[in-house]
Amino acid sequence: SDNQLSNAHEEKIFVSIRLRPLNDRELANEDAAVWECINSTTLLYKNSLPERSALPTAYNFDRVFAGGCSTMQVYEESAKRVALCVVGGINSSIFAYGQTSSGKTYTMCGITEYAIADIYDYIQKHPNRQFVLKFSAMEIYNEAVRDLLSSDATPLRLLDDPDRGTVVEKITEVALRDWSHLKELLSLCAAQRKIGETSLNEMSSRSHQILRLTVDSSAREFRRTENSSTLSATVNFVDLAGSERASQTLSAGTRLKEGSHINRSLLTLGTVIRKLSKGRNAHIPYRDSKLTRILQNSLGGNARTAIICTLSPAHSHVEQSRNTLLFASCAK
Ligand code: ADP
Ligand code: MG
Repeated sequence: SDNQLSNAHEEKIFVSIRLRPLNDRELANEDAAVWECINSTTLLYKNSLPERSALPTAYNFDRVFAGGCSTMQVYEESAKRVALCVVGGINSSIFAYGQTSSGKTYTMCGITEYAIADIYDYIQKHPNRQFVLKFSAMEIYNEAVRDLLSSDATPLRLLDDPDRGTVVEKITEVALRDWSHLKELLSLCAAQRKIGETSLNEMSSRSHQILRLTVDSSAREFRRTENSSTLSATVNFVDLAGSERASQTLSAGTRLKEGSHINRSLLTLGTVIRKLSKGRNAHIPYRDSKLTRILQNSLGGNARTAIICTLSPAHSHVEQSRNTLLFASCAK
């Protein structure tokens, strides 16, 4: 409802953690699940083995989701309000952050569909306004931006527009006809992403995907009310590169060359989010990477952000999981 929307997060960055269940390989290896959600906001490290570092065992976030939670529940309780800001003219971004195979794509696919379904639902309940939905999709790989709605793989340039900020030049922007049109476009994106993957090993773990929906609306009949204003905003659904790409650089500098550009976007995002969560006066280095340039208008300022950090429960992934939780803690 409108009421729900106006009460939308006072917190500008909503940080949640989603554990996935142990997968078949982890079960076959008798890997132990070492993370447990003890209530809706607390994650506990429950391994009793001696550990090298004495990190805290309990972590608090805005919301934590146990392995048994459905994507619908994750959506409802972490991303929905942020996504629905777009119909009220407020920009937003929803991120999935985590190591490869922790469940980013699984989570974002569901959330994107649930969110756009809710946006359609909202539109249907507000017949006095006229809405136009525009969809675009891109991938950032080695700091090159590729259009996921085009078979042309030529990298797209970013331009600075005095009114609109950073724009992606020549990107395909499709006016959505209806729900089935969206589903068509989503499978086209998935197929485009797959093509990249066969030619470049593990591409999806190294690339960022941004699906963007722009919602323009205006009153059908002109009246001198607040309602008659024209609104325009964008919601971004961001499936980030595997976070192990960031920590590799941070640790030993291994594979620096290969991953350096991806790390640039991921590391810059980390810096931007950390600075945003800390306070107002800091210089925010949006311009240091393609990802943060593209998202600048939907990150910070009046924009709303939800970050869903996905986590493997397995003991064998505990180092990466801790890195993810460190990122999540800095974002709060
Ligand atoms: P990532 O995008 O982070 O690399 P994926 O989303 O591709 O990870 O997930 C890896 C595998 O685990 C996939 O087969 C996916 O279906 C499965 N998976 C991920 N999260 C869950 C979950 N919460 N419940 C069940 N299966 C999951
Ligand atoms: Mg993925």
